[in-house]
Amino acid sequence: MKTGFIGLGAMGMHMARNLQKAGLLAGAWNRTPSKATALAAETGCRSYDSPAALAADCDAIVLCVSADTDVLAVVAELCTAIRAGSLVIDCSTVSAGTARHAAGSLAAHGCAFLDCPVSGGVEGARDATLAIMCGGDAAAFGSARPVLAAMGRTVVHLGPSGFGQATKATNQIMCAGIIQAVGEAMAFARSEGLPLDRVIETLGKGAGSSWYFVNRAPFMAREHFPAGFRVRLHQKDLGICRDMAARHGATLPVVESTLAQYAELIAEGHGDEDISSIYRLKSRLFDDGGESEA
Ligand code: NAP
Repeated sequence: MKTGFIGLGAMGMHMARNLQKAGLLAGAWNRTPSKATALAAETGCRSYDSPAALAADCDAIVLCVSADTDVLAVVAELCTAIRAGSLVIDCSTVSAGTARHAAGSLAAHGCAFLDCPVSGGVEGARDATLAIMCGGDAAAFGSARPVLAAMGRTVVHLGPSGFGQATKATNQIMCAGIIQAVGEAMAFARSEGLPLDRVIETLGKGAGSSWYFVNRAPFMAREHFPAGFRVRLHQKDLGICRDMAARHGATLPVVESTLAQYAELIAEGHGDEDISSIYRLKSRLFDDGGESEA
């Protein structure tokens, strides 16, 4: 399947490389063109001038852009040139409603759309071990399997359009609670004077462990939070979760408290750090005698 990639960010660049390793990548387009020309120089794939040029040349198109409006803007451009029978696979994290809207726009051009958000971080994207949760037509999912298998290890079809995104929203609520718990626990461990690396090694095998503890507690121990999953992006995801829960009349405390803390981090200029920087707020609980509200 001749595959084009759109959105060579922290995730997308790795995912495109894995498509190239699987012999599937025809080329890429990126809003900032230098990333696509760099990938082309590295892999020998094409660097397209526009989403339309990519759409006209590819059977499958993978998107990994930022937010709902970005997906809808790219899909609108694809619709100007896409060939009937093509398949669009969106790996961005957006709302289930946006997925259904994009699917409707592409169906009008005789094309399938799968919402395929991913989990596993930049490391999962690099190592092709992502968990990929898919919504959309079952036959389209069958056609997309080779493309998805090149980027992820766990690839599951959950149901119709929007079900992939609803599953991802479920995951993002869990991540919010876990990153808060890991941040609090690590700030507590430091306040007790514990040897943090050995604590991580030991508890990483315990019942309270998680991907975030194993992979992000070391960032907290070093108080260095290089961009992995940016605070701004998780804030965007939790906004989606808040809106989806509100449709059922629910307000979720984990979502609300995490959003409040992310607002504080962003106001302090940490919006592009990894979400483990929530540790900055948690450690203040011990610095100021419990005055902080983190
Ligand atoms: P990122 O590093 O900020 O990259 C975003 C990419 O989207 C860039 O290539 C950007 O182009 C492009 N883009 C944004 N708006 C666009 C628009 N309107 N038109 C065209 N291109 C646009 O983000 P990321 O970390 O790769 O995340 C991408 C998606 O995956 C997000 O939805 C995120 O929530 C999700 N995700 C991220 C992680 C993670 O750990 N990072 C994990 C799971 C899922 P430019 O290069 O021009 O800026």
